[in-house]
Amino acid sequence: MSTAPGTPPLTSRDDGERGDACPGALRLHAADDGALARVRVPGGVLTVRQAEALAEAARRLGDGVLHLTSRGNVQLRGLAGGDACGTELAALLDAAGLLPSYAHERVRNVVASPLSGLDGRQGTADVRPWLTRLDALLCGSATAAALSGRFLFALDDGRGDVASLGADVTVRATEDGRHARVSVGTSAEALRVPYEDAPLAALTAAETFVEAARAQGGRVWRVAELPLSPDALVQTVAGRLPHAQVGTTDPLLVLTEGPAPGPHRGALSVHAPFGRLSPAQWRELTTVAEEAGEAGSGELRLTPWRGVVVPVPGVSGERAEALLARLAATGLVTDPASPWPGVSACVGRPGCAKSLADVRADAERSLAWDVPLLPVHWSGCERRCGHPPGDRTDVVAAGDGTYRVSVVRDGKATPVTPISPTP
Ligand code: SF4
Repeated sequence: MSTAPGTPPLTSRDDGERGDACPGALRLHAADDGALARVRVPGGVLTVRQAEALAEAARRLGDGVLHLTSRGNVQLRGLAGGDACGTELAALLDAAGLLPSYAHERVRNVVASPLSGLDGRQGTADVRPWLTRLDALLCGSATAAALSGRFLFALDDGRGDVASLGADVTVRATEDGRHARVSVGTSAEALRVPYEDAPLAALTAAETFVEAARAQGGRVWRVAELPLSPDALVQTVAGRLPHAQVGTTDPLLVLTEGPAPGPHRGALSVHAPFGRLSPAQWRELTTVAEEAGEAGSGELRLTPWRGVVVPVPGVSGERAEALLARLAATGLVTDPASPWPGVSACVGRPGCAKSLADVRADAERSLAWDVPLLPVHWSGCERRCGHPPGDRTDVVAAGDGTYRVSVVRDGKATPVTPISPTP
């Protein structure tokens, strides 16, 4: 049940210059293909019932498609907007447990290692208890309700996957699995806390950020925007926790990709091109999840790499192949060698009026080209919505049928030869 009654849903144009107008489930965004709602899914974890509720919301109120974001959240597009639509959407989500606190619905931005606890010792600890506890702490904190819709938590089980996503607060399991290292933004220092204290440490870091942002007069949405060293935040947080030690953030392995499509120990992984999941694809995913779970315990895990992991205990061999074949038959990517996971694109035309091209059509044509070494992100304009963090190839529409291309390494863009993908 929600902890606060919903205020009337808002519909607004995004304006990052004026304020944090990040869309939510209760704050709809007016896009050119209708209103858009962004539903936060902490850790990307959905029960089958919640997955079905999202599909129902998309079918009844939107364009029928579920759109995955680069944070493992779900967007509903093509909504009618207005009070009636917003109220019906809120009721649907609330009934499925997807709005545990109306006041916090936009701040539950948490990514978590998708295969944690499923594939043995690839990670050193299971982050699921952290995820449950952090979400509860967030929803119980009046201070955390003031976080922006852009502030991000990452819960990494030690393998280094979500640690690469540039979160504001990153919690990473240590090698022995009994502690966590908590870093803030790009801090050179990190807190070392016992495993069970990690969620409280993450919340304390977020609350400390809110106080620091307020001291700057507000309008600071992410740690990197603070005119303060993140190490100063780490020191403040350490003083507020009973068992925290401060140390340096030794260089650790980070991965730049999520789970490859295909079978994994204890799970199946698929990629959804451009994060679009049709009703048929979603239905097959939920059916497989339901069949795999015992007594209604099936779940889906949406990944920040626009994929879905379905936990299937003990899956391997012919059973894995048969289940993957069912998912592939709907158009989901199940081949580990597919180039699709390396390609992303903003919504482009016709969904966004700012777009100078139908970037998704052009990006799809590019799949036939040589496989690039870096992830490639296609954008309809200079805003580069939804680009992956870290090193990448940026492809931005120029408006004359060509694209400007640059290679981004360590935040520095180097232009290379423009391209013209249209035949
Ligand atoms: S990057 Fe794409 S989605 Fe974002 S504003 Fe530009 S055209 Fe629109």
